[in-house]
Amino acid sequence: MNLVDRILTIVITATITSAIWIVAGGTLIENASSESQRKNTRPAEAAPSPVAVPTDGETDASAASLDRAGPTAPADSDGRQLLIPVKNIRPSDLTDTFSDSRSEGVRLHEAIDIMAPRGTSVVAAGPGTVEKLFRSDAGGNTIYVRSPDGETIHYYAHLDRYAEGLKEGQRVRRGQRLGTVGSSGNASDEAPHLHFAILQTTQDAEWWEPANAVNPFPLLTAGR
Ligand SMILES: [Zn+2]
Repeated sequence: MNLVDRILTIVITATITSAIWIVAGGTLIENASSESQRKNTRPAEAAPSPVAVPTDGETDASAASLDRAGPTAPADSDGRQLLIPVKNIRPSDLTDTFSDSRSEGVRLHEAIDIMAPRGTSVVAAGPGTVEKLFRSDAGGNTIYVRSPDGETIHYYAHLDRYAEGLKEGQRVRRGQRLGTVGSSGNASDEAPHLHFAILQTTQDAEWWEPANAVNPFPLLTAGR
């Protein structure tokens, strides 16, 4: 092998080696970035909270892939049906307003509005613990009740008043009185109603963190 041949061999070997590294390295980087994308789109983090952010088809699709109870499962750990959370309201009185748009189409409603005269009793749809009594501009007087298994939050908004003595940390039974229907927050004075949402969350997530909203309508009307 003369000198020119040896140099040529070295150059070719070096070129092939770096080509292999470029291809292999590129694949590694690609894997790493799709891995981190998956993390970024985990439904619990990407889904809307009751107070903010629009939802989209992608979020719904990833919500369906959660291995926990799906949207059709009753939201209670003991499997019993949910109560309609307003006294004297029958299933036939309810209207499915879950997919209505709100805030001029910026987001979906993701809750049910249960129309009732001001002062009608609001009762717990299921058992749980009052995690937060929160007064917000949009929701007015609101209540967040977390289920015994910690993975569902029932959100009640626009209350006229809280039930006497109701406090954070208190356990409530299904059907226990929580307060009265009203129009606090951004609800119209002429149309008092209870805004009721069911949020699927995780045990370690705070009440205000984004969660997946489940349509209450089929759960409140099923088999009745
Ligand atoms: Zn509403």
